[in-house]
Amino acid sequence: MLKRIDVLTLFPRMAEGFLAESILGRAVSRGLMEMGVHNLRDWSTDKHKKVDDRPFGGGAGMVLMPEPLFDAIEALKTEQTTTVYLCPDGEMLSTEMARELATHPHLLMVSGHYEGIDQRVRDTLVDREISIGDYVLTNGTLPACVLADCVTRQIPGVLGEEKSLTQDSFNDNFLTFPQFTRPAEYRGMKVPEVLLGGNHAAIEQWRAEERQRRTRDKRPDLNH
Ligand code: SAM
Repeated sequence: MLKRIDVLTLFPRMAEGFLAESILGRAVSRGLMEMGVHNLRDWSTDKHKKVDDRPFGGGAGMVLMPEPLFDAIEALKTEQTTTVYLCPDGEMLSTEMARELATHPHLLMVSGHYEGIDQRVRDTLVDREISIGDYVLTNGTLPACVLADCVTRQIPGVLGEEKSLTQDSFNDNFLTFPQFTRPAEYRGMKVPEVLLGGNHAAIEQWRAEERQRRTRDKRPDLNH
């Protein structure tokens, strides 16, 4: 089971703020998880803390150099580590993948910048390449945070109510059902009667039907 996540980034403050908040921050303070954030520039040997250079072959942008990445990853990994590079050309993140990654003891998440990282790092030190969607962001820190969030909530005890995992969208290839809270009527809009009656079997049936209907309408590609 996952015990520790480390994020290697050029923007540590972006990740530190995110990982310290809400359910992830609580998981750390309750001792369920450890999180570390590391600045790639700490492994630069250049006096200006440079970590990038122009791509061989020409073209736009800069590429993160192998030296600081090799030194950083080798310093941060142990025998238990799965090293993940966040990149648009990786395997697409899914709930199923998050569930599987939550069984690894230690995830080291490498976030790129500019045009990405030197291919030799990917070929030798990276175990998994993961994309958070078919679009391109400016750097991999947010993707690393997204992955950390998605995986951490799979760890038993992290979410207040375990049940909320099974009711989530994509848990079983269905989207979730509509939620309502008080008041029972707001600006003339009424909460469905069935949710107010206390008949648990009827509520479960309504929710199952809503899940099917919404999945059919919004995500026919989920194949139901
Ligand atoms: N030239 C690269 C390409 O076309 O695949 C894009 C590089 S992107 C501008 C810079 C960094 O942001 C990447 O190295 C990666 O770490 C991160 N990144 C951007 N989009 C991402 C996505 N959809 N999923 C995961 N990481 C992403």
